[in-house]
Amino acid sequence: MNSRRALVTGGAGFLGSHLCDGLLGEGYQVVAADNLLTGRLENIAHLRNDSRFEFLQKDVCEPSDWGPLDYVFHFASPASPVDYAKHGLATLRVGSYGTFEALESARGCGAKFMMASTSECYGDPLVHPQPESYWGHVNPVGPRSVYDEAKRFSEAVTTAYHRYHKVDTRILRIFNTYGPRMQLHDGRVIPNFMWQALRGENLTVFGDGSQTRSFCYVSDEVDGILRLAKSEEHEPVNVGNPVEFTVLECARKVIAVTGSASKIKFEALPQDDPKQRRPDISKARRLLGWEPKMDLESGLKLSLEYFRKAVLEERH
Ligand code: UDP
Repeated sequence: MNSRRALVTGGAGFLGSHLCDGLLGEGYQVVAADNLLTGRLENIAHLRNDSRFEFLQKDVCEPSDWGPLDYVFHFASPASPVDYAKHGLATLRVGSYGTFEALESARGCGAKFMMASTSECYGDPLVHPQPESYWGHVNPVGPRSVYDEAKRFSEAVTTAYHRYHKVDTRILRIFNTYGPRMQLHDGRVIPNFMWQALRGENLTVFGDGSQTRSFCYVSDEVDGILRLAKSEEHEPVNVGNPVEFTVLECARKVIAVTGSASKIKFEALPQDDPKQRRPDISKARRLLGWEPKMDLESGLKLSLEYFRKAVLEERH
């Protein structure tokens, strides 16, 4: 058991670092690779003295010899709308060249492979909730296309390596995930609202706040990832929380959980902002026996200490 070795690309990112923790908990040796474009060393600082953990600062778009591997988890990519707008070309590169390289690494060792895909594959969906069989509604030249199309391409490459090279692949479609270690300023709705609420500033709701998202607490997401890793499913699987909130409801929850006196102010809706998002998780339930356990209020409460500390540290 203890000799299993996994590579996590994007291992210093928010979700990648939680996945490293989960894999160490399952008895893996873990190599985390990250170019630190949006990943942060503080996310993995607690693993520094763990002899089963190794961090390599690398651009995963370049070929690398990682040594023997049993599993490759390709999680490297800017993932928030603000980050991928800022790093558009890097996002396209890691979804394309990076996916080829990660798949070649898996193929070379006969390792299993998982690609971190996203609900962005569904774009601004016309089918609700979104089952894996829905092909999506994506603007290929809009501001989100660098991420959406990179991930759709990445799914295509992963599927082709399975089809042509018989690589043992998995495709995970992640829906809005949150929790400790999110960057305060990656622009995503929960860190933004937490930051604003904890500083007593007004929460910026974009549009009229009627657009919806379904938020999955990070420990639930990692549980789903580990279950999918052990499954034999090669087609995409949604792993997200199916309880849907409007962004306005989310703002009110954050105000309640933080006990803040902040009010809500409305700002312009970004272009191509999806109007609704909710995963159909029948497949994950059936295949993985997976079900998220944490409701939004409990997850926000569990995240509060991290966000409080991050806001305090920023002040000093
Ligand atoms: N949003 C908002 N205020 C903010 C940040 C985001 O109203 O300060 C909205 C955003 O327009 C979107 C939703 O919250 O409708 C989720 O945005 P996020 O950037 O977290 O991720 P997305 O699901 O759009 O990729």
